[in-house]
Amino acid sequence: MKFVTFQHEGRRAVGVIDPDKQRVWPLDTIQGEPVGDMLDLIRRFDAIKGHIALNAAGIPLADVRLDAPIPRPDRNIFCVGKNYHEHAHEFTRSGFDAGSKQASDAIPEAPIFFTKPPETVIANDEPIRYPHGVSDSIDYEAELGVVIGKGGRGISKAEAYDHVFGYVIINDVTARDWQSRHKQWFLGKSFDTFCPMGPWLATADEVDAANLSLRCWVNDELRQNANTSDLIFDIPTMIETLSAGITLYPGDVIATGTPAGVGIGFTPPKFLKPGDRVTIEIDGLGRLSNVLD
Ligand code: MG
Repeated sequence: MKFVTFQHEGRRAVGVIDPDKQRVWPLDTIQGEPVGDMLDLIRRFDAIKGHIALNAAGIPLADVRLDAPIPRPDRNIFCVGKNYHEHAHEFTRSGFDAGSKQASDAIPEAPIFFTKPPETVIANDEPIRYPHGVSDSIDYEAELGVVIGKGGRGISKAEAYDHVFGYVIINDVTARDWQSRHKQWFLGKSFDTFCPMGPWLATADEVDAANLSLRCWVNDELRQNANTSDLIFDIPTMIETLSAGITLYPGDVIATGTPAGVGIGFTPPKFLKPGDRVTIEIDGLGRLSNVLD
């Protein structure tokens, strides 16, 4: 199923979306219990998934406004850096990689994690705020986001997919000068509005996460075109690594890294400008599109 958080007639609700039929069905109650929000749905999903009934005609998609599927995660979004071979090389080559300067160091030996605060999350079509006077090195990163269903600590690779609720598109927007100058990734990746997410959250059974095409355009120019089969550290490895010492909770989000073709991969770099539109598509997960203003 594909779930959305949306606004209709002045209230926010969780629903099921059918992009072909262009309709949304609100999930106000399931088995008589109100559904509070997407995090509530994720926490209760195992118990209620057999009882989701779409009996009414639904609402035309044109009549609702989609929010990010998880408009405000409970805690920071976990992110993996340098997780596609070609991108790891382009990043190190660009000179913006404070962690490694030599080509021989480009491919990490273990996953590199950083986080983005919950407040970075914005919806499809919501503007990314251009940080005038703060950074002029704004870049895009198309990524597959993993949403945890069943929490846990010490999750092995073999069990990892049992802990995945579903998948969503994420744009890991980055201020490269801050990432480079401050020698860590948190600051430059955590500006307000720097985590577009959406348009919907697809349950794990909907896609083969290890083999998804991912494309990203800036305006009409195709910049990134890759497949999640090229990840250096796969989803089970990310979950095993993260959960070794950190308990994961339902609704946690992991952004899995971006492939080659980001702005700093070009010579000279192609940074985003106010008015640019970044559009990302991933098989089965729709299209996430945001303008910088
Ligand atoms: Mg990234």
